[in-house]
Order: sequence, then structure tokens, then C-alpha cells
Amino acid sequence: RFITLEGGEGVGKSTQLRRVADALARRGIDVVVTREPGGSPGAEAIRALLLTGAADRWSARAEALLFAAARADHVERTIRPAIASGRWVLCDRFVDSSRAYQATGSALGDDDVMALHRVGSAGLLPDRTLVLALDADEALARAGDRDSAGSDRIGGRAADYHDHVARAFHRIAAAEPERVRLVDGSGPADSVTDRLVDALADLLP
Ligand code: C5P
Repeated sequence: RFITLEGGEGVGKSTQLRRVADALARRGIDVVVTREPGGSPGAEAIRALLLTGAADRWSARAEALLFAAARADHVERTIRPAIASGRWVLCDRFVDSSRAYQATGSALGDDDVMALHRVGSAGLLPDRTLVLALDADEALARAGDRDSAGSDRIGGRAADYHDHVARAFHRIAAAEPERVRLVDGSGPADSVTDRLVDALADLLP
């Protein structure tokens, strides 16, 4: 199975990724945890290009191509082989992040992002995509805390950008309800994990 975890800045995605991986492992599932951009040596090299330097280092189109190139390598070298060997892949962000981020406030639309994905990764889609959803103020406050720690160049963007991204994820979830599930990210971490695992119930062995 191929599962992705998505969400905007500050929704608790990294914490929950580890927790969901642990929960699956406890059920006897052999799970590979990976992330994008990155997840294979070539894609990690592209990640270093993407996540360093000024936010406007790349033109919007060049940036979208770099994300698609990183994903192509990650899919071919890491994700497909793991799925083929019967393992589960749990991936931190995937094409839906490109649809939410690269197709937000740039010259590119959703169709363009999906076209790049078809060329780069044969259009591979997850069996289930979990979108962590959190009230905008709460998410911004958490993302702000992380920024002050200096760990993310992205969070400094304006609140309306965060809002666009959150709305894009909601749109994707509404359009593809079978694949994509919105999960409430508020409250104690263990309740959030329970909700995420519940959203995988029909796929569990
Ligand atoms: O929150 P996380 O550590 O996953 O942040 C990685 C950043 O990379 C995101 O904030 C997002 O802006 C960006 N990203 C993107 N498109 C992707 C994956 C990540 O713009 N497909």
C-alpha cells in the first residue's frame, strides 16, 4: 500500500507521520517511511536545491519541474520497489502538495501539475492520502514557533498564502473523497493518531 500524509505548515505532520508509522508497525505491517522532496539520493540532492536560498530562487515553473523531477526519482528508486516487495510506503507529502503549493499563486494550474506528474511518475497516486486539517490561526501559531527556531524558510509567507494552501487541500479532498480524507488535527497527539489510523481502517490487513 502507498499512503501519503499532507497538510499545511504547523499542522503537526512530522509528529503524526512517526506516530502512524509506529501504529502500523504494531499491527505487523512492514512500513517504509519516506518524504518528499527527497526519499532517494538523487531526490535528496534536488531537495537541497529547493529548500535553500531565497524563496524566489527559482521561477515558479522551474520550481515545479524540480519538484516533479525529485518525485520521479523518488517514485522509481524508492516507492515502486518498496510497494513491489509487499511493503507499505508512508510518505510525508506527495503530488497533492505540489497541487496545493506550486499551483497556488503561480502561473501553473492543477492540470499542469498533474501533467508533470504523468510524465515524471506515470501518474502514480496513493491508495490513501491523509490531509491533516487544523484551524488556520492554530496552524499559523505553530508554524510561527517553528520559524523562530529557524528551521523552515517557507513559514514566513503571508497568512493568505497559508489560507490558499489549506483551501487547495480541502478542494482536493472534496474532489477525490475515496482517496483523500481530511483528518482533524486538533487536540492531543494520540487522539489525532487514532483518527488518522481510523481513516486507513478499510486498508488494514
Ligand atoms: O512542512 P514540510 O517540512 O513538509 O515542508 C516542506 C516544504 O516544501 C513545504 O512547506 C512546502 O512549501 C514545500 N513543498 C512544496 N511542494 C511539494 C512538497 C513540499 O512546495 N510537493
